[in-house]
Amino acid sequence: MRGNAPLLEIRDLRTWFPVRRGLLNRVVGHVKAVDGVSLHVMEGETLGLVGESGCGKTTLGRSIVGLERPRAGQILFQGTDMDRLSRTERKRAGRHLQMIFQDPAASLNPRLTVLDALTEGLQEHGLLAGSREAEGARLLAEVGLPPEALYRYPFEFSGGQRQRISLARAISLRPALVVCDEPVSSLDVSVQAQVINLLMDLREKYRLSYLFISHDLSVVRHLSARIAVMYLGRIVEEGPAAAVMDRPLHPYTQALLAAVLVPGRPRGRALVLPGEPPSPLNPPSGCPFHPRCPKVMEKCRVDFPPTAWQGASRVGCHLYG
Ligand code: SF4
Repeated sequence: MRGNAPLLEIRDLRTWFPVRRGLLNRVVGHVKAVDGVSLHVMEGETLGLVGESGCGKTTLGRSIVGLERPRAGQILFQGTDMDRLSRTERKRAGRHLQMIFQDPAASLNPRLTVLDALTEGLQEHGLLAGSREAEGARLLAEVGLPPEALYRYPFEFSGGQRQRISLARAISLRPALVVCDEPVSSLDVSVQAQVINLLMDLREKYRLSYLFISHDLSVVRHLSARIAVMYLGRIVEEGPAAAVMDRPLHPYTQALLAAVLVPGRPRGRALVLPGEPPSPLNPPSGCPFHPRCPKVMEKCRVDFPPTAWQGASRVGCHLYG
């Protein structure tokens, strides 16, 4: 136990992608997919991360598990700065930090049987106590699949079953945190509920923490203790799930919520969010949301809004400065 220290702490993280042009392949700009994000996740907690597609949620998740290399900022996991670890140390620490993806078909190697997929990590980390078959069958039972599935290939399963296999593989290494990137959005609605229930059962059983990335606010509300709202590479609002869902502060959060019906939340007057999100290659001046904001003020076009605390939530908007 590390007292009340966060399991994961992200400080001012920036993950930019260079844009190259011309014969000399010169860097002419950067896509600022993640641009100054600070967040934390406590042990056993689920933090929901929401925002429109292209807002940087997936890049943030991939940066946390080491699939993208941030340009600046810090990722502290279990109190350790991941950037200071050697390759071997990073690999060792990485087993506590797993990710499941929207498309399990793309994340499971089609040439490996389920048995191989479930046990290769265990063997690599020297964690295989008994036989591969026994451990594989135990993991499958955890996600509600029969032992016969061990000898089949990913293409032989439905989308929901493949996501169960991905989950079994993720928990095989006994992680502390799982980044779940839109894990149910490609599944049928009936299957979505089963996978969400499974995620909640596994969280309980293994005391997992989740960073749950989704564009579906009702799913996020169901699973999360806190919610962070991302727009154009930045967190614009973060707070307890009930506060963010029932009393959203940032005009972007208000617009997102107005666009969906959430069980138990009274639907207010629908806000219409005009236009598409601007390009992270060339974000607007001042508040990046100002070209679409129904509450825009003159200073929003010029000054970047500071982050302010409002009760237990923090919000980046001049209305609360
Ligand atoms: Fe709207 Fe201004 Fe707040 Fe940005 S800072 S969300 S433009 S009111």
